[in-house]
Amino acid sequence: VLCVSQDFDFFYFVQQWPGSYCDTRHSCCYPKTGKPVADFGIHGLWPNYNNGGYPSNCNPDSVFDKSQISDLKSSLEKNWPTLACPSGDGYKFWTHEWEKHGTCAESELDQHGYFEAALKLKEKANLLQVLKNADIKPDDEFYDLDSIEQAIEDAIGYAPGIECNVDGSRNTQLFQIYLCIDTSGSEFIKCPLLPRGRCASRVQFPKF
Ligand code: 5GP
Ligand code: 5GP
Ligand code: 5GP
Repeated sequence: VLCVSQDFDFFYFVQQWPGSYCDTRHSCCYPKTGKPVADFGIHGLWPNYNNGGYPSNCNPDSVFDKSQISDLKSSLEKNWPTLACPSGDGYKFWTHEWEKHGTCAESELDQHGYFEAALKLKEKANLLQVLKNADIKPDDEFYDLDSIEQAIEDAIGYAPGIECNVDGSRNTQLFQIYLCIDTSGSEFIKCPLLPRGRCASRVQFPKF
């Protein structure tokens, strides 16, 4: 039996801090459109199971078609920039995310709906503003992990998952923030489970 639409329980909506991505051993390359603004960028909207597993690459027939998101291009360039090397225009990253993750949510969202949902979620969450309001800024200083989590929980209503990375000087840095989203791709929900974070109790919020 061939089954193209696989079910899932919720989404992780994952945003990355560019200053931390660029500090890792991989380093980074700015997109061809130029250095992104100093803001969190979208990494992906990932279907997940409540037990921690997740489906991937669910429909090889559903290839990424850039003509379906031409109206979203400038917003994607701003809010979902690619930082991998070599420099790209974003389509490679978006293609990867659609084919690996988006195709597993096709029962809920078509390709346009998938990218639009992620962009709307970023607008709704506005994590950098939320953190700045709590006096947590990308200034190379260290902040209590608890205070970062609390600021986001107070603003969004639910505790986030926080993932850290370690830079060349062994500083633990705020890398990615996970929020949980219902299967429609529009509402924040309490996370069924939080990702393992590898964070210290104090983490650096690097400049970008
Ligand atoms: P990493 O090595 O950064 O933890 O993960 C590599 C890739 O695996 C991620 O970019 C993402 O595509 C996928 N991945 C990692 N953890 C999860 C998860 O908890 N849920 C889902 N859906 N995908 C994940
Ligand atoms: P994942 O499988 O972890 O969802 O996606 C990561 C893949 O997207 C990797 O192959 C990585 O090289 C590529 N990629 C392109 N741009 C970026 C970026 O800005 N951040 C991350 N995390 N991965 C990127
Ligand atoms: P992937 O399987 O997606 O190629 O990458 C595996 C892991 O390496 C993921 O954690 C992804 O975020 C990370 N990664 C892949 N490419 C890059 C890169 O160019 N720079 C950084 N900092 N991480 C990367």
